[in-house]
Amino acid sequence: MDDHVMTIDGVPVVGEAPPVAVVDPATEQVLAHAPGCSPGQLDEAMGSAERALRGWRRDDGQRRAALRAMAGALEDAVDEVALLLTREQGKPLVDARREVMTAAVWLRYFADLERPREIVQDDERRFVEIQRAPIGVVGAITPWNFPLALAMWKVGPALRAGNTVVLKPSPFTPLSTLLCGRIFAGHLPPGVLNVVSGADALGPLITAHPVPRKISFTGSTATGKRVAVSAGADLKRVTLELGGNDPAILLPDADVAALADTLFWNAFANNGQVCLAVKRVYVHESVHDDLVDALAAVASAVRVGPGTGDGVRLGPVNNAPQYARVSELVGDALRNGGRAVTGGRETDGPGYFYPPTILDGVTAGHRIVEEEQFGPALPIIRYRDVADAVRQANSGMYGLTASVWAQDVDRAAEVATDLDCGQVSINVHGGAVLPNLPFGGHKWSGIGVENGIWGLDGFTEMRVVSRPPRPRADG
Ligand code: NAD
Repeated sequence: MDDHVMTIDGVPVVGEAPPVAVVDPATEQVLAHAPGCSPGQLDEAMGSAERALRGWRRDDGQRRAALRAMAGALEDAVDEVALLLTREQGKPLVDARREVMTAAVWLRYFADLERPREIVQDDERRFVEIQRAPIGVVGAITPWNFPLALAMWKVGPALRAGNTVVLKPSPFTPLSTLLCGRIFAGHLPPGVLNVVSGADALGPLITAHPVPRKISFTGSTATGKRVAVSAGADLKRVTLELGGNDPAILLPDADVAALADTLFWNAFANNGQVCLAVKRVYVHESVHDDLVDALAAVASAVRVGPGTGDGVRLGPVNNAPQYARVSELVGDALRNGGRAVTGGRETDGPGYFYPPTILDGVTAGHRIVEEEQFGPALPIIRYRDVADAVRQANSGMYGLTASVWAQDVDRAAEVATDLDCGQVSINVHGGAVLPNLPFGGHKWSGIGVENGIWGLDGFTEMRVVSRPPRPRADG
């Protein structure tokens, strides 16, 4: 499986820098090598994106048609792309297929999106309109948890707005994105979408490169800060979608039996490797024991195994450093008074399999409560007073998403307005991640938003055009 190639100026390109070994997390064996993009090849990709701009920015109809064709081509290739995604990422095949189809939904949404004109004055004195101009070449950098969906959150709106793109996937999961580059090449003029791969060190070369005028980045907060510094030095525009430590608050009247399954999957889907997964649960003491028992019952019934296995709901953790991190945070909790109600330790290899872990007896101050675990371990924190739960939920520097769970939905909605984050849902977590809604974080969880008209506008510069009035038909 070493025939993976980049797409530069529309054509397949092998790497000139050392290749990157991609490991199958279910076996810990090298699955394939991704090309290493050399600095010279990055220059070529940037140059071709720059050359493609002139034609691409002119014709919105062409852009819409191309995005629709890309969506269709992706759907047609779902079997091949999903299998590759499962092999490199670890997620169950059914989830990989869903991710591919979701990526197509996003492309189609941006093809169809109607952006109303913004005419601010149209009278006998002036005609004044705010136009949305493309920014230029966009450097798009993605993480390994949802490589395709998150790439299309960028590619769809960036291309629709008239920009061209150089896309770099994570070195842990480059293969499915590289494959998409080849699939899309048949539907785009050369240079409009370049896909390059390499080690982490390729990222800073993109953010420091003089050509891109915007960096759209999804990844960790630590890297996001580096991206902001690098892009800031050149006044590049940035959108940063970063980490989260997303709280769920269960109010005293929460119906634990009814919500446990949903809450569990909102925390553990994709093995908890979701920026907006529930990462800590604050539960009122009156329903605490019931919740722990109910979550433990769901966790114990989950089938963990290779993503290609029958009936598997959770695959391996994606990579060795992430596996070590989950182990470390759980170990820290257990050494400091926490109790693993389920799971709590690594399984015997091979494969980065970690059982879904429900942690009880943890409080503020435990690392797994304060930090983003990004894995299959969920701390349950008991509280007495709702105001105190809200204070704890708002503590720390993350502010991505949150949820409030209660039978009294109005009361839950009231609590929701006290939470400092980009999205809060009632009786579900992350219930509003849709192509037409803005998604982004407060505080260290990011800058700017993706999706919807707001996400599209993030790939534009405003241009005010003021001209003498148009001749009026009525004279
Ligand atoms: P990461 O920050 O390690 O890597 C993300 C990407 O940045 C990769 O492509 C990597 O190669 C690249 N990169 C590394 N160093 C770079 C540098 N100095 N300059 C530019 N690029 C560089 O993140 P990850 O481990 O791949 O992803 C997990 C993190 O992503 C979690 O914190 C998660 O919460 C976050 N995430 C956020 C969202 C969101 O929408 N807010 C979505 C998914 C994941």
